[in-house]
Formats: sequence, structure tokens, C-alpha cells
Amino acid sequence: MNESDPLPPFQSIPLPKLFQPFLEDHPFEHCIVCQCNLLQDDVHYLIEKAYKGTEVIFEYALCVPCAMDMRAELSQESLLRMQDRFENSQNLEARRTRLAKLSPQEIAPWIDTCVITGISRQETDSYQLCAHCVGWELVLADLPFMISAAAINEMSALLSQKTRDSLDDFTDQYLGMPPELREVFDDLPALLF
Ligand SMILES: [Zn+2]
Repeated sequence: MNESDPLPPFQSIPLPKLFQPFLEDHPFEHCIVCQCNLLQDDVHYLIEKAYKGTEVIFEYALCVPCAMDMRAELSQESLLRMQDRFENSQNLEARRTRLAKLSPQEIAPWIDTCVITGISRQETDSYQLCAHCVGWELVLADLPFMISAAAINEMSALLSQKTRDSLDDFTDQYLGMPPELREVFDDLPALLF
């Protein structure tokens, strides 16, 4: 796509409370890395929320330019392996088309089962929710999805040491989790898959 081309049209719904910061009544306001204001200038951003049972272990928003910078630091080999594993279990385009038809307003079917393993949210003690937003809107496309801790740990095994180090640095610098919680998700921010 030429940089001057407008972004392709996308389907979106008002941001559900689930994707707002825990206990707050408005969307995430700042990117966790560059601190840019996410509610101005139509910035596209991603949200990740990690749960253990009903408890939110961590949550953050990351602007798309920062997410792209981070992905550029990961090894190509790791990214390709993760992508392969992802595509083996899920054709994202088919999923998007099916869900957009089935549930254009209600996000439950988008996040009720693990995007990799297919197990339901009730069957997994720990999981992450990932979403793509613009301002007060949730974009319905490849995201939102739910990914179980088991699937994250499986993805983690595909990473090179270099990629693991980059993701560990991100977790250390921004998420500040105690070690027992880091183990649940193998330190892996699922947003970068
Ligand atoms: Zn940013």
C-alpha cells in the first residue's frame, strides 16, 4: 500500500468495557512505550489484558507504530515459526469473515474460545485478550481474540533466544510482574504474534 493511500475501511463497534482499563470508565489513554495520546488523531493501538481466573494480572495499550518497532526487533525465524503455528490452527481471514457475519455487534463469539487451541474460556484458568482499537472504537478484524496460557506457552517454545530476550526486556521494563505470575504466561506478550 502506498503511504498516502487512506487506510482500508474497517468494521468497528463502540469499545466494550472489557477492553477499558480495569476499574476505569474510559479507554486506555497512553501507549505504554512512547506515552503518545491514544485518543487523539485516530491513532490505531492494541490492547492486551492477561487474566488468571477473574483477576487481571496485567493490562496495557501499545500504539501500532511502537508494536511494529518491537516486532522489527524480533528474529525473523521466530516470527515465521509463530506465524506458521498460528496459521496451522486458524485461518484469520476466514475467521474474520465468519465472525463478522455471525456477530457484527457482540464480541463474545470472538473471544470465547482460544484462537490457537479452540478450548473455551471456562476450560482455561489463565488467558489473554488482545484487541485492536481506534479511539473509542474496537476494530473487528484479525483481533479481538482470546489466547489460552497453554497456547502461549506452546508459542514460547518456538522462539529463538534473541526473541525471548527482547520479550523478557519488554516484560521487565513495562509490565513489572512478580515471578510467580510471569511463569503463567512464560513472559510472553501475545500481542506480538
Ligand atoms: Zn507508542
